[in-house]
Amino acid sequence: MENSVIKEEIVIVGGGVAGLATALALKRVGIKSLVLEKANELRVTGAALALFSNAWIALESLGVAEKLNPFYKPYESVKVTNVANGVSQETNFHKQGVEGLAIGPRAVHRKALLEALLEELPIDTVRFSSKLRSIEKTEKRQDDDSFGVIVHLEDGTMIHTKVLIGCDGVHSVVSKWLGLKDPVHSGRCAVRGLGVFPEGHGLKHEAQQFVDRGRRFGIAPINNEDVYWFVAYQSIPNKDEEMAKGDPKVIQKTILESVSGSPQVVKDVIQQSEMQSLSWAPLLFRYPWNVIFGPLSDGTITVAGDAMHPMTPDLGQGGCASLEDAVILGRHIGNSYIRNGGMISQEDLEVEIEMYVKERRWRTAGLITASYLSGWVQQSGGGGIRSSSRTVGWLMKFLRDSIFYKMIFRRLGSFLHYDCGKLPTGST
Ligand SMILES: Cc1cc2nc3c(=O)[nH]c(=O)nc-3n(C[C@H](O)[C@H](O)[C@H](O)COP(=O)(O)OP(=O)(O)OC[C@H]3O[C@@H](n4cnc5c(N)ncnc54)[C@H](O)[C@@H]3O)c2cc1C
Repeated sequence: MENSVIKEEIVIVGGGVAGLATALALKRVGIKSLVLEKANELRVTGAALALFSNAWIALESLGVAEKLNPFYKPYESVKVTNVANGVSQETNFHKQGVEGLAIGPRAVHRKALLEALLEELPIDTVRFSSKLRSIEKTEKRQDDDSFGVIVHLEDGTMIHTKVLIGCDGVHSVVSKWLGLKDPVHSGRCAVRGLGVFPEGHGLKHEAQQFVDRGRRFGIAPINNEDVYWFVAYQSIPNKDEEMAKGDPKVIQKTILESVSGSPQVVKDVIQQSEMQSLSWAPLLFRYPWNVIFGPLSDGTITVAGDAMHPMTPDLGQGGCASLEDAVILGRHIGNSYIRNGGMISQEDLEVEIEMYVKERRWRTAGLITASYLSGWVQQSGGGGIRSSSRTVGWLMKFLRDSIFYKMIFRRLGSFLHYDCGKLPTGST
């Protein structure tokens, strides 16, 4: 049987937050794209995610914020409790507001976010069960009608395209093809889940964290019934291998055992978890210097989201930055499209994509660095700290409780309150 050959002007690989948001940004500027997703439906691994004000600004530009707004209220504060001595500190997001804006994060169901983006796209935008296998770039031709990139799918389909955007996550085939260095393991892992309390959980609408040596547990009530939770911890080799197999019962049991000394609320949310919501993940990140100096594009091939800037989740910024990417990339491609009377001009687009990359390098490298440092301090340093002297342990605790939570954490607001701007209007 002959393999099918398709032509599409813009192909996006990956139907996660970055891929769907990018497709929507393009749609808003009048450009049709095709999203290739390897799964046979939307992937909602992780249950929920915290979206900070930078993400809401991007969602506003994409025209979907108002769909989610009524269901997700911002937190006014985050309470951090030191499990060892029971002492809590509270950070009030209202006080950090820029021009009176509340900038507290909101925990949003992943499914709701992805569906809100998908609903805005033409029905045939996402092609499920379509796994990218390899990429080929043909000789550059002078005419603008060149479909110079060939995308090969696992099922043998070949798609000829003018623009390829890799939004294929942390193990991106597109970023590998560009020559970006692989992400590295932070030495920590995380488990996430959604606790469901049909009778109501009775918790205050605030984010809570419980920090312990080498471990940090987070609780984020989404509405009256659902509570998103995560635990990030220093790798435990044998247990991680077991949890990596993905059996939710094993994940739940292992995590419950590891939090035996934690407050009851922690155990309750784990116990009440929807089984299919439980997931385990190693925490990977790309070295920031690889993002600053690495090949983030080649002509009209580029990357967005985790494919560009995988980061540890310690500031809850991976998804938020993916939404920023989508708007900024949409703006650059849109500018070129509008300038060229509703046509794709290869050369002009190459310049705009380079501008997109330039705009993203330092911002996302900063987020990777801040996330990593924040995780390191909050979890009392790296693996070596656990076995080192009491003085080092005390120093790390001082850094975390007195410097990080009291001074740095409070000031992170303005860094996270990033305005990615609007999409251009006037497209055809
Ligand atoms: C423990 C943890 C907690 C987190 N918490 C937060 C948070 O609170 N807030 C936040 O903003 N971020 C958070 N993040 C980060 C966030 O989950 C990611 O940054 C975000 O999902 C990235 O979106 P993406 O679309 O780039 O990648 P993904 O969500 O990974 O989507 C990539 C998509 O590409 C598809 N794909 C992959 N390879 C191929 C292929 N070859 N062909 C076709 N399709 C392919 C995949 O199936 C997937 O659907 C967290 C991450 C972790 C691990």
